[in-house]
Amino acid sequence: MSYKLYIPGPVEVSAKTFQAMTIPMYGHRSPDFVALYQRIQSKLQILFGTGDPVYLFTSSSWGAMEAAVRNVTQKKVLNCMCGAFSDKWHTVSLNCGKEAGALRFEWGLPVDPEAVALELATGQYDSITMVHNETSTGMMNPLPELMAVVRNFPEVISVVDAVSSFSAVPLDKDALGIDVLLTGSQKALALPPGLALCSVSQRARDRASTTSGRGFYFDFLNFHQNHLKSMTPSTPSLALIHGLESKLEDIFKEGLENRYARHTRLNAMVHDWVERNDLALFPRKEFASKTLTCVENTRQIDVPEFISLLKKRHNCVIDGGYGKIKGRTFRISNMGDETEDTIGKLLDNLDNILVDI
Ligand SMILES: *Cc1c(COP(=O)(O)O)cnc(C)c1O
Repeated sequence: MSYKLYIPGPVEVSAKTFQAMTIPMYGHRSPDFVALYQRIQSKLQILFGTGDPVYLFTSSSWGAMEAAVRNVTQKKVLNCMCGAFSDKWHTVSLNCGKEAGALRFEWGLPVDPEAVALELATGQYDSITMVHNETSTGMMNPLPELMAVVRNFPEVISVVDAVSSFSAVPLDKDALGIDVLLTGSQKALALPPGLALCSVSQRARDRASTTSGRGFYFDFLNFHQNHLKSMTPSTPSLALIHGLESKLEDIFKEGLENRYARHTRLNAMVHDWVERNDLALFPRKEFASKTLTCVENTRQIDVPEFISLLKKRHNCVIDGGYGKIKGRTFRISNMGDETEDTIGKLLDNLDNILVDI
């Protein structure tokens, strides 16, 4: 079983990355690990646009998202909701026993900065969660406008999920004033799942120091104490961290600007395909994601059949839509190591199948 993946995570992992992960195991308290941690830390800080530490979580992204809520929310968290992932963050907050407010927007629409300003002005909140790239709807929130609002409320700690945008579009954590910015390994970083990266500000750590119920495994303060020794609190996923080091090498070799431009170009290729075939984007075009395309199924295509034929004939996999818009939409990812050639081939294959469906 081996398919070429074009789903919005996990995405295809290169042979080079896999090779880097086949290291013999060694102690995570050894000088070798300390050296590895230090080698990747400065590169991660560049990608996050921050001088803050970047902690390595041995979990998928939801681990870091739950950690953020548990560490920084004392009074009440505002969950900005506009799709499956941002919606689920409300459930996470409530399940962590937090008071949580739901600021809901229709799926496909972005979070409205004015609505955020009005809600934060009620003074109930000490934290806010936002998803940068809503993977379920293929919509990218206007982070600069949103953060410009949040920065007016110094008591509010901001938590941003950049799981499906990180390293594919520029992110500037410090300039935007984001306190907690997190991502996972299996999206644009094109690593296997199981590693989350989370950068935490001094303000967020100060908040955590007076927050009870932070738990054990994901306690920011424990991460920070270990970070000061270039270590993780518990045994990390050594193989994945070596994979990450290899991927960071690739990213800086390509060059950040080239990498961002490549994602934009490939995304535009998919958008062109959508227009050419009388399909439509699910989100409003000006807020469309640059890392995946969520296609509105305006041609009433039998999506499960479409996907099954693609898999059978061409060994490729796209996604059949997420949550309540499954079937009404389908999604094509251009994250990771894709090229004009690989995206071009996929679009040819899709054309080939559209003729028969
Ligand atoms: C994939 C994704 C997640 C969840 O990641 P897991 O790896 O399943 O924990 C969260 N947020 C967004 C925006 C995502 O795309």
